[in-house]
Amino acid sequence: MAEASTKHVMDREKIGQQMYEFIRALYPICRSITGAGLRETLKQISEHIPLQISEVATGTEVFDWTVPKEWNIRDAYIKNLAGERVVDFRKSNLHVVSYSVPVRTRLPLSELKTHLFTLLDHPDWIPYRTSYYQETWGFCLRHQDLLRMKDEQYEVCIDSSLDAGHLTYGEYHLPGEEESEVLISCHTCHPSLCNDNLSGIALATFLARHLSTQPRRYSYRFLFIPGTIGSITWLSRNEDKTHRIKHGLVAACVGDPGKSTYKKSRQGDAEIDKAVTHVLKHSGQDYEIMDFSPYGYDERQYNSPGFNLPVGSLMRTPNGRYPEYHTSADNLDFVSAESLKDSYQKYLSVIQVLENNRTYINLNPKCEPQLGKRGLYRLMGGDRDTGFDQMSLLWVLNLSDGRHSLLDIAERSGYEFSVIKNAAHALCEKALLKESSGP
Ligand SMILES: [Zn+2]
Repeated sequence: MAEASTKHVMDREKIGQQMYEFIRALYPICRSITGAGLRETLKQISEHIPLQISEVATGTEVFDWTVPKEWNIRDAYIKNLAGERVVDFRKSNLHVVSYSVPVRTRLPLSELKTHLFTLLDHPDWIPYRTSYYQETWGFCLRHQDLLRMKDEQYEVCIDSSLDAGHLTYGEYHLPGEEESEVLISCHTCHPSLCNDNLSGIALATFLARHLSTQPRRYSYRFLFIPGTIGSITWLSRNEDKTHRIKHGLVAACVGDPGKSTYKKSRQGDAEIDKAVTHVLKHSGQDYEIMDFSPYGYDERQYNSPGFNLPVGSLMRTPNGRYPEYHTSADNLDFVSAESLKDSYQKYLSVIQVLENNRTYINLNPKCEPQLGKRGLYRLMGGDRDTGFDQMSLLWVLNLSDGRHSLLDIAERSGYEFSVIKNAAHALCEKALLKESSGP
Protein backbone atom coordinates (compact mmCIF):
# COMPACT_ATOMS: atom_id res chain seq x y z
CA MET A 1 0.00 0.00 0.00
CA ALA A 2 1.34 3.44 -0.92
CA GLU A 3 2.45 5.89 1.74
CA ALA A 4 -0.15 8.39 0.63
CA SER A 5 -2.79 6.10 2.08
CA THR A 6 -1.42 6.13 5.63
CA LYS A 7 -4.09 8.62 6.61
CA HIS A 8 -6.64 6.35 5.01
CA VAL A 9 -5.43 3.40 7.11
CA MET A 10 -5.66 5.54 10.25
CA ASP A 11 -9.19 6.57 9.33
CA ARG A 12 -10.08 2.92 9.00
CA GLU A 13 -8.65 2.22 12.43
CA LYS A 14 -10.95 4.87 13.87
CA ILE A 15 -14.02 3.83 11.91
CA GLY A 16 -15.26 1.28 14.47
CA GLN A 17 -15.10 3.83 17.24
CA GLN A 18 -16.86 6.47 15.11
CA MET A 19 -19.66 4.04 14.29
CA TYR A 20 -19.99 3.14 17.95
CA GLU A 21 -20.20 6.81 18.96
CA PHE A 22 -22.92 7.38 16.36
CA ILE A 23 -24.89 4.44 17.82
CA ARG A 24 -24.48 5.97 21.26
CA ALA A 25 -25.91 9.29 20.00
CA LEU A 26 -28.92 7.62 18.34
CA TYR A 27 -29.60 5.15 21.14
CA PRO A 28 -31.90 7.30 23.35
CA ILE A 29 -34.26 8.27 20.49
CA CYS A 30 -37.71 6.65 20.48
CA ARG A 31 -38.00 5.56 16.86
CA SER A 32 -40.96 3.87 15.25
CA ILE A 33 -42.15 3.32 11.67
CA THR A 34 -43.33 6.95 11.58
CA GLY A 35 -43.02 10.05 13.73
CA ALA A 36 -40.62 12.47 15.37
CA GLY A 37 -38.05 9.87 16.50
CA LEU A 38 -37.62 8.58 12.94
CA ARG A 39 -37.25 12.16 11.64
CA GLU A 40 -34.69 13.03 14.32
CA THR A 41 -32.69 9.90 13.41
CA LEU A 42 -32.67 10.89 9.72
CA LYS A 43 -31.62 14.41 10.72
CA GLN A 44 -28.62 13.04 12.60
CA ILE A 45 -27.67 10.82 9.64
CA SER A 46 -27.90 13.98 7.48
CA GLU A 47 -25.08 15.48 9.51
CA HIS A 48 -22.78 12.84 7.96
CA ILE A 49 -24.22 12.44 4.45
CA PRO A 50 -26.62 14.65 2.44
CA LEU A 51 -29.83 12.64 2.77
CA GLN A 52 -32.82 13.28 0.60
CA ILE A 53 -35.85 13.03 2.90
CA SER A 54 -39.25 11.91 1.63
CA GLU A 55 -42.56 12.30 3.44
CA VAL A 56 -45.41 10.05 2.30
CA ALA A 57 -48.90 10.90 3.53
CA THR A 58 -50.95 8.62 5.75
CA GLY A 59 -53.45 6.70 3.66
CA THR A 60 -51.24 6.47 0.55
CA GLU A 61 -51.73 3.12 -1.14
CA VAL A 62 -48.44 1.26 -1.60
CA PHE A 63 -49.07 -2.04 -3.41
CA ASP A 64 -51.28 -4.09 -1.07
CA TRP A 65 -50.51 -1.85 1.93
CA THR A 66 -51.53 1.58 3.15
CA VAL A 67 -49.20 4.11 4.78
CA PRO A 68 -50.35 4.11 8.43
CA LYS A 69 -51.20 6.97 10.73
CA GLU A 70 -48.25 8.79 12.25
CA TRP A 71 -47.42 7.86 15.84
CA ASN A 72 -45.80 10.19 18.34
CA ILE A 73 -45.24 9.81 22.05
CA ARG A 74 -44.27 12.27 24.77
CA ASP A 75 -44.59 10.32 28.01
CA ALA A 76 -46.01 7.15 29.53
CA TYR A 77 -46.12 5.56 32.96
CA ILE A 78 -47.85 3.24 35.39
CA LYS A 79 -48.22 4.74 38.87
CA ASN A 80 -48.99 2.83 42.07
CA LEU A 81 -51.37 4.03 44.79
CA ALA A 82 -48.54 6.03 46.38
CA GLY A 83 -48.20 7.96 43.10
CA GLU A 84 -44.77 6.47 42.24
CA ARG A 85 -43.93 5.57 38.66
CA VAL A 86 -43.39 1.80 38.75
CA VAL A 87 -43.01 1.75 34.95
CA ASP A 88 -41.56 4.90 33.38
CA PHE A 89 -41.14 5.65 29.67
CA ARG A 90 -38.56 8.28 30.58
CA LYS A 91 -36.27 5.51 31.85
CA SER A 92 -36.63 3.29 28.75
CA ASN A 93 -38.64 3.85 25.60
CA LEU A 94 -39.02 0.06 25.32
CA HIS A 95 -41.56 0.25 28.16
CA VAL A 96 -44.35 1.26 25.77
CA VAL A 97 -45.66 -1.05 23.05
CA SER A 98 -44.83 0.89 19.87
CA TYR A 99 -47.95 2.44 18.29
CA SER A 100 -49.91 2.29 21.55
CA VAL A 101 -53.05 4.46 21.38
CA PRO A 102 -53.38 7.21 24.02
CA VAL A 103 -54.67 6.03 27.41
CA ARG A 104 -55.43 7.75 30.71
CA THR A 105 -57.21 5.55 33.20
CA ARG A 106 -57.19 3.68 36.51
CA LEU A 107 -57.33 -0.08 36.37
CA PRO A 108 -57.37 -2.99 38.78
CA LEU A 109 -54.11 -4.97 38.53
CA SER A 110 -55.91 -8.03 37.12
CA GLU A 111 -57.17 -5.99 34.16
CA LEU A 112 -53.91 -4.08 33.71
CA LYS A 113 -52.04 -7.38 33.45
CA THR A 114 -53.70 -8.14 30.09
CA HIS A 115 -51.73 -5.13 28.75
CA LEU A 116 -48.37 -6.07 30.29
CA PHE A 117 -45.57 -8.02 28.62
CA THR A 118 -42.51 -9.53 30.32
CA LEU A 119 -39.84 -12.15 29.68
CA LEU A 120 -40.07 -15.07 32.08
CA ASP A 121 -36.67 -16.50 31.14
CA HIS A 122 -34.91 -13.11 31.45
CA PRO A 123 -36.70 -11.40 34.36
CA ASP A 124 -34.31 -8.43 34.32
CA TRP A 125 -34.76 -7.58 30.62
CA ILE A 126 -37.52 -5.45 29.04
CA PRO A 127 -39.02 -6.96 25.88
CA TYR A 128 -39.61 -4.89 22.70
CA ARG A 129 -43.10 -5.11 21.23
CA THR A 130 -45.07 -3.33 18.52
CA SER A 131 -48.69 -3.17 17.43
CA TYR A 132 -48.60 -1.22 14.19
CA TYR A 133 -51.71 -2.42 12.48
CA GLN A 134 -54.01 -3.11 15.42
CA GLU A 135 -55.07 -0.18 17.59
CA THR A 136 -54.33 -1.21 21.16
CA TRP A 137 -51.96 -0.26 23.98
CA GLY A 138 -49.53 -2.00 26.25
CA PHE A 139 -46.46 -1.80 28.45
CA CYS A 140 -43.31 -3.94 28.44
CA LEU A 141 -41.47 -4.37 31.73
CA ARG A 142 -38.98 -6.48 33.63
CA HIS A 143 -40.65 -9.57 35.01
CA GLN A 144 -39.01 -8.90 38.38
CA ASP A 145 -40.79 -5.51 38.47
CA LEU A 146 -44.13 -7.09 37.64
CA LEU A 147 -43.68 -9.44 40.63
CA ARG A 148 -43.32 -6.38 42.86
CA MET A 149 -46.64 -4.88 41.74
CA LYS A 150 -48.99 -5.68 44.65
CA ASP A 151 -51.41 -2.72 44.70
CA GLU A 152 -55.01 -3.35 43.80
CA GLN A 153 -55.23 -0.45 41.41
CA TYR A 154 -52.85 1.45 39.14
CA GLU A 155 -52.94 4.72 37.24
CA VAL A 156 -52.03 4.31 33.59
CA CYS A 157 -50.98 7.06 31.18
CA ILE A 158 -49.80 6.87 27.60
CA ASP A 159 -49.44 10.38 26.26
CA SER A 160 -49.26 9.43 22.58
CA SER A 161 -50.98 10.50 19.40
CA LEU A 162 -51.97 8.46 16.38
CA ASP A 163 -53.13 10.82 13.65
CA ALA A 164 -52.97 11.46 9.94
CA GLY A 165 -49.40 12.48 9.16
CA HIS A 166 -46.52 11.04 7.18
CA LEU A 167 -44.14 8.15 6.81
CA THR A 168 -40.58 9.48 6.53
CA TYR A 169 -37.58 7.88 4.86
CA GLY A 170 -34.11 8.97 3.82
CA GLU A 171 -32.23 8.23 0.64
CA TYR A 172 -28.72 8.97 -0.59
CA HIS A 173 -27.84 8.41 -4.23
CA LEU A 174 -24.20 8.47 -5.25
CA PRO A 175 -23.77 8.47 -9.03
CA GLY A 176 -20.98 6.37 -10.55
CA GLU A 177 -19.62 5.79 -14.07
CA GLU A 178 -22.50 3.40 -14.68
CA GLU A 179 -26.18 3.90 -14.09
CA SER A 180 -26.33 0.36 -12.60
CA GLU A 181 -26.68 0.54 -8.86
CA VAL A 182 -25.60 -1.16 -5.68
CA LEU A 183 -28.39 -0.87 -3.09
CA ILE A 184 -27.57 -0.70 0.61
CA SER A 185 -30.72 -0.71 2.72
CA CYS A 186 -31.21 -0.52 6.47
CA HIS A 187 -34.22 -0.21 8.76
CA THR A 188 -34.55 2.81 11.04
CA CYS A 189 -37.71 2.04 13.00
CA HIS A 190 -36.60 0.43 16.27
CA PRO A 191 -36.31 2.46 19.50
CA SER A 192 -33.37 1.90 21.87
CA LEU A 193 -31.98 -1.27 20.29
CA CYS A 194 -28.37 -1.31 19.16
CA ASN A 195 -27.61 -4.37 17.08
CA ASP A 196 -31.05 -4.61 15.52
CA ASN A 197 -31.36 -1.28 13.78
CA LEU A 198 -28.62 1.09 15.00
CA SER A 199 -25.64 -1.02 13.88
CA GLY A 200 -26.99 -1.17 10.31
CA ILE A 201 -27.70 2.57 10.31
CA ALA A 202 -24.16 3.35 11.48
CA LEU A 203 -22.56 1.00 8.95
CA ALA A 204 -24.61 2.35 6.02
CA THR A 205 -23.91 5.97 7.02
CA PHE A 206 -20.14 5.57 7.29
CA LEU A 207 -19.92 3.36 4.21
CA ALA A 208 -21.82 6.00 2.21
CA ARG A 209 -19.57 8.75 3.51
CA HIS A 210 -16.47 6.79 2.53
CA LEU A 211 -17.74 5.83 -0.94
CA SER A 212 -18.62 9.46 -1.67
CA THR A 213 -14.86 10.19 -1.61
CA GLN A 214 -13.90 7.28 -3.91
CA PRO A 215 -13.97 6.84 -7.69
CA ARG A 216 -16.99 4.64 -8.45
CA ARG A 217 -17.88 2.32 -11.30
CA TYR A 218 -21.35 1.67 -9.92
CA SER A 219 -23.87 4.15 -8.62
CA TYR A 220 -24.87 3.57 -5.00
CA ARG A 221 -28.24 4.00 -3.38
CA PHE A 222 -28.50 4.03 0.40
CA LEU A 223 -31.96 3.68 1.91
CA PHE A 224 -32.77 4.51 5.54
CA ILE A 225 -36.33 3.29 5.89
CA PRO A 226 -38.79 1.94 8.44
CA GLY A 227 -38.84 -1.87 8.18
CA THR A 228 -41.34 -3.54 5.83
CA ILE A 229 -43.67 -0.57 5.20
CA GLY A 230 -40.63 1.57 4.26
CA SER A 231 -39.26 -0.79 1.61
CA ILE A 232 -42.78 -1.44 0.28
CA THR A 233 -43.33 2.32 0.05
CA TRP A 234 -39.97 2.94 -1.64
CA LEU A 235 -40.49 0.11 -4.15
CA SER A 236 -44.00 1.31 -4.89
CA ARG A 237 -42.78 4.87 -5.61
CA ASN A 238 -39.63 3.84 -7.52
CA GLU A 239 -40.70 0.82 -9.52
CA ASP A 240 -39.26 2.41 -12.69
CA LYS A 241 -35.78 2.58 -11.09
CA THR A 242 -35.53 -0.95 -9.75
CA HIS A 243 -34.11 -2.37 -13.00
CA ARG A 244 -30.92 -0.41 -12.22
CA ILE A 245 -30.29 -2.37 -9.01
CA LYS A 246 -27.63 -4.87 -9.98
CA HIS A 247 -26.48 -5.84 -6.49
CA GLY A 248 -27.80 -5.17 -3.03
CA LEU A 249 -27.29 -5.79 0.66
CA VAL A 250 -29.57 -5.29 3.63
CA ALA A 251 -27.43 -4.11 6.55
CA ALA A 252 -28.65 -5.25 9.96
CA CYS A 253 -27.23 -6.90 13.07
CA VAL A 254 -23.61 -5.98 12.23
CA GLY A 255 -22.32 -4.99 15.68
CA ASP A 256 -22.64 -8.09 17.89
CA PRO A 257 -19.72 -10.37 18.81
CA GLY A 258 -20.93 -13.30 16.64
CA LYS A 259 -19.45 -14.56 13.38
CA SER A 260 -20.44 -13.08 10.02
CA THR A 261 -23.55 -14.59 8.43
CA TYR A 262 -24.68 -14.07 4.86
CA LYS A 263 -28.23 -14.70 3.79
CA LYS A 264 -28.33 -15.20 0.04
CA SER A 265 -30.66 -13.50 -2.39
CA ARG A 266 -33.69 -15.41 -3.68
CA GLN A 267 -31.77 -16.02 -6.92
CA GLY A 268 -29.10 -17.80 -4.85
CA ASP A 269 -26.33 -17.53 -7.46
CA ALA A 270 -26.33 -13.80 -8.13
CA GLU A 271 -23.02 -11.97 -8.35
CA ILE A 272 -23.62 -10.46 -4.88
CA ASP A 273 -24.05 -14.00 -3.46
CA LYS A 274 -20.74 -15.08 -5.02
CA ALA A 275 -18.93 -11.90 -4.00
CA VAL A 276 -19.96 -12.07 -0.34
CA THR A 277 -19.25 -15.81 -0.13
CA HIS A 278 -15.79 -15.19 -1.60
CA VAL A 279 -15.00 -12.40 0.86
CA LEU A 280 -16.11 -14.46 3.87
CA LYS A 281 -14.21 -17.53 2.67
CA HIS A 282 -10.99 -15.51 2.49
CA SER A 283 -11.59 -13.58 5.73
CA GLY A 284 -9.70 -16.13 7.80
CA GLN A 285 -12.63 -16.17 10.22
CA ASP A 286 -15.53 -18.49 10.89
CA TYR A 287 -18.71 -17.61 8.95
CA GLU A 288 -22.04 -19.00 7.85
CA ILE A 289 -23.93 -18.87 4.56
CA MET A 290 -27.72 -19.21 4.74
CA ASP A 291 -30.10 -19.80 1.86
CA PHE A 292 -32.77 -17.23 1.19
CA SER A 293 -36.00 -17.50 3.15
CA PRO A 294 -38.98 -15.14 2.92
CA TYR A 295 -38.50 -13.85 6.45
CA GLY A 296 -36.14 -11.39 8.13
CA TYR A 297 -35.74 -7.73 7.13
CA ASP A 298 -36.45 -5.78 3.95
CA GLU A 299 -34.82 -8.39 1.73
CA ARG A 300 -38.30 -9.97 1.89
CA GLN A 301 -39.69 -7.12 -0.20
CA TYR A 302 -36.72 -6.69 -2.57
CA ASN A 303 -36.80 -10.46 -3.23
CA SER A 304 -40.57 -10.71 -3.74
CA PRO A 305 -41.23 -12.45 -7.08
CA GLY A 306 -42.45 -9.26 -8.77
CA PHE A 307 -39.01 -7.68 -8.19
CA ASN A 308 -36.64 -10.63 -7.58
CA LEU A 309 -33.75 -8.23 -7.02
CA PRO A 310 -30.31 -9.68 -6.25
CA VAL A 311 -30.32 -8.43 -2.65
CA GLY A 312 -28.81 -10.50 0.16
CA SER A 313 -28.15 -9.64 3.77
CA LEU A 314 -24.71 -9.54 5.36
CA MET A 315 -25.08 -9.70 9.14
CA ARG A 316 -23.29 -11.09 12.14
CA THR A 317 -25.78 -13.03 14.29
CA PRO A 318 -29.13 -13.03 12.45
CA ASN A 319 -32.34 -11.65 13.93
CA GLY A 320 -33.97 -14.04 16.39
CA ARG A 321 -30.82 -16.11 16.90
CA TYR A 322 -29.50 -14.29 19.96
CA PRO A 323 -31.33 -14.05 23.30
CA GLU A 324 -30.78 -10.27 23.50
CA TYR A 325 -32.74 -9.81 20.23
CA HIS A 326 -35.75 -7.48 20.69
CA THR A 327 -34.98 -6.89 24.36
CA SER A 328 -33.36 -4.18 26.46
CA ALA A 329 -30.21 -6.33 26.49
CA ASP A 330 -29.57 -5.34 22.85
CA ASN A 331 -27.90 -2.28 24.31
CA LEU A 332 -24.61 -0.37 24.11
CA ASP A 333 -22.78 -3.25 25.81
CA PHE A 334 -23.95 -5.78 23.25
CA VAL A 335 -22.31 -4.08 20.26
CA SER A 336 -18.64 -3.16 19.99
CA ALA A 337 -16.42 -0.89 17.90
CA GLU A 338 -14.38 -3.96 16.98
CA SER A 339 -17.31 -5.93 15.54
CA LEU A 340 -18.62 -2.84 13.75
CA LYS A 341 -15.24 -2.23 12.16
CA ASP A 342 -14.94 -5.86 11.08
CA SER A 343 -18.40 -5.73 9.46
CA TYR A 344 -17.59 -2.42 7.77
CA GLN A 345 -14.39 -3.85 6.30
CA LYS A 346 -16.24 -6.87 4.97
CA TYR A 347 -18.81 -4.62 3.27
CA LEU A 348 -15.94 -2.63 1.74
CA SER A 349 -14.23 -5.82 0.55
CA VAL A 350 -17.47 -6.96 -1.10
CA ILE A 351 -17.78 -3.58 -2.82
CA GLN A 352 -14.18 -3.81 -4.02
CA VAL A 353 -14.98 -7.20 -5.59
CA LEU A 354 -18.11 -5.85 -7.29
CA GLU A 355 -16.34 -2.72 -8.52
CA ASN A 356 -13.48 -4.73 -10.07
CA ASN A 357 -15.25 -7.85 -11.24
CA ARG A 358 -14.89 -7.58 -14.98
CA THR A 359 -14.43 -10.14 -17.75
CA TYR A 360 -11.36 -10.16 -19.99
CA ILE A 361 -10.13 -11.74 -23.23
CA ASN A 362 -6.69 -13.29 -23.63
CA LEU A 363 -5.18 -11.60 -26.70
CA ASN A 364 -2.61 -14.39 -27.11
CA PRO A 365 -4.83 -17.45 -26.63
CA LYS A 366 -2.86 -19.96 -28.73
CA CYS A 367 -0.46 -21.56 -26.23
CA GLU A 368 0.97 -19.58 -23.34
CA PRO A 369 2.53 -16.22 -24.09
CA GLN A 370 6.20 -15.96 -23.14
CA LEU A 371 6.04 -14.13 -19.86
CA GLY A 372 9.84 -13.88 -19.43
CA LYS A 373 10.39 -11.50 -22.30
CA ARG A 374 7.69 -9.25 -20.86
CA GLY A 375 9.26 -9.13 -17.42
CA LEU A 376 6.48 -11.16 -15.82
CA TYR A 377 8.28 -14.47 -15.27
CA ARG A 378 10.41 -13.46 -12.28
CA LEU A 379 7.30 -13.36 -10.17
CA MET A 380 7.49 -17.07 -9.38
CA GLY A 381 6.59 -17.63 -5.77
CA GLY A 382 4.91 -14.28 -5.32
CA ASP A 383 5.95 -10.71 -5.14
CA ARG A 384 4.91 -8.43 -2.33
CA ASP A 385 5.10 -5.25 -4.39
CA THR A 386 2.90 -6.39 -7.25
CA GLY A 387 0.35 -8.34 -5.22
CA PHE A 388 0.27 -11.32 -7.62
CA ASP A 389 2.41 -14.29 -8.61
CA GLN A 390 3.06 -16.37 -11.69
CA MET A 391 0.35 -18.96 -11.04
CA SER A 392 -2.25 -16.22 -10.79
CA LEU A 393 -1.08 -14.87 -14.17
CA LEU A 394 -1.43 -18.32 -15.70
CA TRP A 395 -4.94 -18.73 -14.29
CA VAL A 396 -6.05 -15.34 -15.60
CA LEU A 397 -4.58 -16.04 -19.05
CA ASN A 398 -6.14 -19.48 -19.22
CA LEU A 399 -9.65 -18.54 -18.11
CA SER A 400 -9.90 -15.14 -19.83
CA ASP A 401 -11.97 -16.40 -22.73
CA GLY A 402 -14.75 -13.86 -22.34
CA ARG A 403 -16.84 -16.31 -20.34
CA HIS A 404 -15.20 -16.15 -16.92
CA SER A 405 -15.24 -13.04 -14.76
CA LEU A 406 -12.31 -12.30 -12.45
CA LEU A 407 -14.43 -13.56 -9.56
CA ASP A 408 -15.01 -16.85 -11.42
CA ILE A 409 -11.25 -17.13 -11.93
CA ALA A 410 -10.56 -16.37 -8.28
CA GLU A 411 -13.03 -19.06 -7.21
CA ARG A 412 -11.71 -21.68 -9.64
CA SER A 413 -8.05 -21.00 -8.81
CA GLY A 414 -8.50 -20.61 -5.06
CA TYR A 415 -6.81 -17.20 -5.11
CA GLU A 416 -8.13 -14.22 -3.22
CA PHE A 417 -9.91 -11.80 -5.59
CA SER A 418 -7.41 -8.95 -5.27
CA VAL A 419 -4.53 -11.18 -6.42
CA ILE A 420 -6.45 -12.15 -9.57
CA LYS A 421 -7.40 -8.52 -10.14
CA ASN A 422 -3.76 -7.39 -9.81
CA ALA A 423 -2.61 -10.15 -12.19
CA ALA A 424 -5.24 -9.09 -14.75
CA HIS A 425 -4.17 -5.46 -14.52
CA ALA A 426 -0.51 -6.45 -15.07
CA LEU A 427 -1.48 -8.50 -18.12
CA CYS A 428 -3.51 -5.59 -19.50
CA GLU A 429 -0.46 -3.35 -19.15
CA LYS A 430 1.55 -5.81 -21.26
CA ALA A 431 -1.25 -5.92 -23.84
CA LEU A 432 -1.88 -9.61 -23.22
CA LEU A 433 -5.43 -9.03 -22.01
CA LYS A 434 -8.28 -6.70 -22.78
CA GLU A 435 -11.65 -6.17 -21.20
CA SER A 436 -14.47 -8.05 -22.85
CA SER A 437 -18.02 -6.87 -23.07
CA GLY A 438 -18.89 -9.70 -20.68
CA PRO A 439 -20.03 -13.29 -20.72
ZN1 LIG B 1 -36.22 -6.05 14.79
